[in-house]
Amino acid sequence: MNQLLLELANTRRTYRSMLNLYWLTIVLTVILEYTLYYIEAKPDSADIKEMLLLQALGLAAVTGLAELLYRYRKMQSDWLLILTGIIYATSIILINPSIGIVPAIYIFPILTSVLSFNKNRILFAFALILVCFSLLYAVNPELRQTLEPVHTIGILFLYTGVTVIALAIAGSGIELLNNLKHATEAKQDLLVQNIIMDKLSKMDALTDMYNHKTFHEYLEKLIEHNQSNPLSLQLAVLDIDNFKTINDTYGHWVGDIILMRVSHIIKETITPNDFVARYGGEEFAVIFTEKTLEESYRIVELIRQKLAATIHTELDSKAATLSIGLAEYKKGEGKEALFKGADAALYAAKRTGKNKTVVQSFAGSMELLPGVRYWV
Ligand code: GH3
Ligand code: MG
Ligand code: MG
Repeated sequence: MNQLLLELANTRRTYRSMLNLYWLTIVLTVILEYTLYYIEAKPDSADIKEMLLLQALGLAAVTGLAELLYRYRKMQSDWLLILTGIIYATSIILINPSIGIVPAIYIFPILTSVLSFNKNRILFAFALILVCFSLLYAVNPELRQTLEPVHTIGILFLYTGVTVIALAIAGSGIELLNNLKHATEAKQDLLVQNIIMDKLSKMDALTDMYNHKTFHEYLEKLIEHNQSNPLSLQLAVLDIDNFKTINDTYGHWVGDIILMRVSHIIKETITPNDFVARYGGEEFAVIFTEKTLEESYRIVELIRQKLAATIHTELDSKAATLSIGLAEYKKGEGKEALFKGADAALYAAKRTGKNKTVVQSFAGSMELLPGVRYWV
């Protein structure tokens, strides 16, 4: 059995139930045996009482040991359960050798061994029972007298038959556990695959930023939320300047390196509350929430300045630059209007010389941002 199956086997509650059953069996055995002697009308009480007391104490000692190991060592030993069962059965046979059916009681330890779902343990129980039965038969004349040869053969057949059935049950249990394990593994694999697929469908592979689709989904949700819970919201669109020239002059692979550097600068500059996506080829979009327009402006300006100050060896030690359009969401306007505003501001930044941030103006914001280039 592999590790998972062993773990499953060791955490089952059956062990506790089995111990309880053993304790109960001690009481039931004593009552039953005493009743039997009484019915047979030979209650030479002193003897039988002593014998039953001795048997009860012996069984209590064995069960107590299993109980202690279970309680204080968290030990769940199938061997111990089987052995305890065999001791119970042996003691019952020893006390009642004159009852013809009594050796059949050995089938109970075999059935107990099925709980381990382990074929070796079942075979161990079977072998031990054969040994115990042979010994009892050899040393106990009363048992020999009770059991006619045909009964003995019948008993041995019974042990064998029960063992074969026990092995079949265990085999089917192991198969079930294996199927369960495979099903669980397959489910886990699927879950991981779904998470990966979900992430892949939301992300851009080159920059590890959210993609165009996720950007729109997020902005839509934010604007929807904004209807009932107004919060400040700004959108910035950032576009690398003359990127086509970079590609054409230094090659696409250099273009890709610049894209990754730009995305790195954006990610390290925005705050955890901000949302950034690669909107298109060399365009990025950042959504700012719970910030003033001025705070958002400072952040995008910082991004622009950092990039303008970064020298790229791949560009013959020149810098790449960004043009940025920033717009603030006005309550009631839709996603399209907000995006149009930011895009128009970006267009103004491009038209008026690039490497700059332009904020879409609206009444009341002018004096807030002294020195900012506005486009109306
Ligand atoms: P402007 O300053 O006006 O923004 O000019 P531009 O050259 O940056 O803009 P244009 O739209 O003319 O060119 C964008 C280029 O970006 C064209 C396209 O080949 C390139 N591009 C888009 N996606 C990628 C990419 O993933 N990797 C690389 N290397 N280039 C890309
Ligand atoms: Mg562009
Ligand atoms: Mg561009």
